Amino acid sequence: MPNQEMLLIPGPTPVVDEIYEALAQETYAHTDPRLVKRFKNSLDMLKRLFNTKGEAFIVAGSGTLSMEMAIVNTVAPGEKLLVISHGFFGDRFIPVAQAHGIQVEVLQPEWGQHIEISAVEEKLAQGGYKAVTVTHVDTSTGVISNLEKLVPAVKKHGVLFILDGVCASAAVEEDMSKEYGHPDYTIDLVLTGSQKAIGVPPGLAIVAFGPKALKAREAMDKVAAYYMDILRWLPTMQDPGKYYATHPVNMIYALEKGMEIVMAEGLEARYKRHASLGRAVRAGLAEYGMKALAAEEVAAPTLSCILYPEGVNDAEFRSKLAAKGMVIAGSLAALAGKAFRIGHMGNVTEEMFVKAMELVGETLTEMGFKADTAKAVETFKTVYRLGLAE
Ligand SMILES: *Cc1c(COP(=O)(O)O)cnc(C)c1O
Repeated sequence: MPNQEMLLIPGPTPVVDEIYEALAQETYAHTDPRLVKRFKNSLDMLKRLFNTKGEAFIVAGSGTLSMEMAIVNTVAPGEKLLVISHGFFGDRFIPVAQAHGIQVEVLQPEWGQHIEISAVEEKLAQGGYKAVTVTHVDTSTGVISNLEKLVPAVKKHGVLFILDGVCASAAVEEDMSKEYGHPDYTIDLVLTGSQKAIGVPPGLAIVAFGPKALKAREAMDKVAAYYMDILRWLPTMQDPGKYYATHPVNMIYALEKGMEIVMAEGLEARYKRHASLGRAVRAGLAEYGMKALAAEEVAAPTLSCILYPEGVNDAEFRSKLAAKGMVIAGSLAALAGKAFRIGHMGNVTEEMFVKAMELVGETLTEMGFKADTAKAVETFKTVYRLGLAE
């Protein structure tokens, strides 16, 4: 097992030994040719992951930094941004944009639901928007956005499409060269972090700018940022040996290893594994009377927000599981105490989730609830294997 603990929160996710070994290697100078080579290799793999004709950026920071980098470099103060929010992380774009004097409009359905495409069309028909943000998987609700519908609805209006992939990248397709029904209907920008489905410890902000997003930045002249300005970073990303700010050297080793693992598995196989795992985890937990907040058609491959059956105490349930070595997360805002969140992404295995099913059953039994553990494990395995064989 990779981690001693089963870290099944929505990120950071379990880190495998090969990545820990990469992290523990000797720290080179941030301009050393050996580091430069590994940096370039990491950038190349990220560009393949996102299939972008633009540029990728790797900067020390968390996913939130990558959100702010995306906004600062595409939307100027006073310009209009439409935020399509499926939960807590979608909403985070509001204060980020407001901090930069951007005018923000928001579309937010009830938690667990999808936004109506007609509402998006209506908003954009008013005109004047520079960009739209969409959170691929909202980590508060476990809802995955429907890119097949959203990309055309947004791009029809010539507006930039910004995708927050923090809880999806490397587990769900995010192909920036894919044409969603028309050559102009493509994702313009994907932002992400290292610690979720990529499976590397937290610490890296990753952003991929497609050609239109790069043009938007070039057309903006100055931006009110220094560390976040992608034009200042660009020469360094083209030649990582050029100093701009010190690279997080050991985290680059870790990212290179993490991306090698992603590429060795193969993107199609990795996407299928996550889709199957998500369905299987929800089906297994349903045997305990635990239902996902999101309907299966809108539920994410990477994490689930699971409602407690009547009477199960959140704090007690999670602390009992933690004592057995399985860590899950509580829920946010109105769902706090009423649901838990379980991550099922990154470098995780079938065995880990068989164990997770068993520990949940054991814990429910200890708390005085009926739980058919054997049935939950069986359902999990059956659904998972059927998914993989599809
Ligand atoms: C985790 C997450 C973030 C925030 O990332 P941090 O690394 O915590 O800053 C943003 N968006 C989504 C969708 C996330 O899941």
